Amino acid sequence: MPDYPQGRGRVSLEAAGIAIDGVSIAGHESFFKLPGFRTLLEFGRAPDDTLAYGTVCLTHGHLDHAAGLAHHASRRTLTGLGPARVFAPAEAIPDLRLWVEACERLESVRYGTRFEAAVPGETVALRRDLELRILPGRHRVPTVGYLFSEVRRKLREDLAGRSGPEIAALRESGAEVTRREEIPLLAYPGDCGPEIFDAVPELYGAKVLLIECSFFAPEDVGRAHAYGHLHISDFTERADLFQNEFVVLTHFTMRSSVEEIRAGIAGLPPSLGRRVVAFLAP
Ligand SMILES: [Zn+2]
Ligand SMILES: [Zn+2]
Repeated sequence: MPDYPQGRGRVSLEAAGIAIDGVSIAGHESFFKLPGFRTLLEFGRAPDDTLAYGTVCLTHGHLDHAAGLAHHASRRTLTGLGPARVFAPAEAIPDLRLWVEACERLESVRYGTRFEAAVPGETVALRRDLELRILPGRHRVPTVGYLFSEVRRKLREDLAGRSGPEIAALRESGAEVTRREEIPLLAYPGDCGPEIFDAVPELYGAKVLLIECSFFAPEDVGRAHAYGHLHISDFTERADLFQNEFVVLTHFTMRSSVEEIRAGIAGLPPSLGRRVVAFLAP
């Protein structure tokens, strides 16, 4: 039996200019490389092409998302890449640390993984022009989400009519002549039930919403919600609320065939459906 079902292996796509590359199968393996942000979302099973990513945002401890943690750390150490910076829910960090420490003892090697508690509401400057905001999660174990925003400095509106020399003089006098503007580029809430939409309305406003839709079959609505997951009907119900340029659906279970997933998306209200992309190989 192949490692991935037909059409469900490696996926590379671009949405609103943001490249997303990875694998996402519920209960099996889920990770997304975001080369534009130099960030890895989740480890999945951490294949070799994830090793160069020194910043990793883990949403929760389920092994389809976290299994590659120690492997990633070990391989980075062996190849001289140095410790990764790993954001994770505060509640999960003690166990993640114990796991990594056990592997360090087994290998008699120190990885030095730098865990950072991802606290909802806090922001981290990944670059001068890129900010990471931690979002609350809604899943069966402690979970956080992540929002990447571009940070721009714009001239203060009340200075719009002033000349260049005037503005330069103001700046030299110590006045703040620009204001900060954040453009939400990509939001990712990790695994989540439908409660996520009321808890994190920011999801609706990002250019790209990368979000799970684990279940499609009409009889699976209860199953999806009982396990803290989304069903395609959750998107239909909220179709008018999504302002995103693209909604990329991920984390489909093995229960759904590629045809069922595509049919489910085709059945969405067109206003939403035309902006929805399935995280599937073409
Ligand atoms: Zn999962
Ligand atoms: Zn999960």
